[in-house]
Amino acid sequence: MKRIDISIVVPVYREEEIISDFYNELVKVMESSGTVFEIIFVHDDRSNSETMQKLKEIHYNDTRVVIIGLTRNFGHQIALTAGMDYARGEAVVTMDGDLQHPPELIPTLIENWKKGYDIVYTIREDVLGESFFKKYSAKLFYRMMSRISDIDMGINCADFRLMSRKTVEEFKRLKEKSRFIRGLVSWMGYNKIGVTYIAKERSKGETKFSLRKIISFALNGLLSFSNFPIRLISFIGLIVSSVSFLYLIRVTYFFLFTEEKIPNMLPITTIILILCGVQMLMLGIIGEYIAKIFTETKNRPIYIIDEIYDKVDD
Ligand code: UDP
Ligand code: MG
Repeated sequence: MKRIDISIVVPVYREEEIISDFYNELVKVMESSGTVFEIIFVHDDRSNSETMQKLKEIHYNDTRVVIIGLTRNFGHQIALTAGMDYARGEAVVTMDGDLQHPPELIPTLIENWKKGYDIVYTIREDVLGESFFKKYSAKLFYRMMSRISDIDMGINCADFRLMSRKTVEEFKRLKEKSRFIRGLVSWMGYNKIGVTYIAKERSKGETKFSLRKIISFALNGLLSFSNFPIRLISFIGLIVSSVSFLYLIRVTYFFLFTEEKIPNMLPITTIILILCGVQMLMLGIIGEYIAKIFTETKNRPIYIIDEIYDKVDD
């Protein structure tokens, strides 16, 4: 089999409007880079035939293009994992298929890899045209994560990076089901370097990350890499018990040493309700961790492949 230098892994979910433009730009850049490459599109949505049709057309005209069709929408992180598992290149580049990760940056990634870096990650300088909410919520999230988690995953790091064969092989050994890839990669260590780029506005189609998906993604990152929420529970519990204890002492004092009636100083019902709420919230946090353990112990495969289009099989 021919030796492949670079595999480019691209998860694709309902990108029929932009995928051909993306492919054309990518091929232009890769051909001028003088490397032997393959492009692996991971189609993350069994039911969307329009995008698949486009991908097949691209594949039939270009034997360097591989399509991995998953059986349903497994989500961006898992689609990336499927592509990385399949990739054969000496280095693997992962990127989005909507041109927000500029293909022009790939030669810089390759250059740094050739200099001896195992992981070349990218830092987004600014996302043009991104909503105020998305920009600032992401910033806040990564700031908070770098404070409370065990690892530093950097601010504004997307899943646009190059990894050497050696690191990809190690990455494949990480079998956790709820994946937060930028956290995993950061956890792995290795000799890394970051390069910056300016993310462009999405020119066609719209973001596939609904608010629900963003929240679940952030929660995944938080719970997979931090025990802070659990510790917070103990801390709040400690504070609440200490305050109640002081109050108890005060009430006892009035009862034993004064003639005054025990003052009904605090509206008891409100306090009980507040405490009920706090308890439920805490149970919820514990529940999230237990749900994670449950998912991991079920030992299901991370994804299921329905079909593969590869020059070797055709
Ligand atoms: N994507 C995917 N599965 C999903 C959601 C997104 O494979 O469930 C792909 C999508 O096609 C794109 C990349 O992941 O190539 C990033 O998605 P998007 O551009 O919608 O995210 P944003 O840039 O808005 O964060
Ligand atoms: Mg995008």
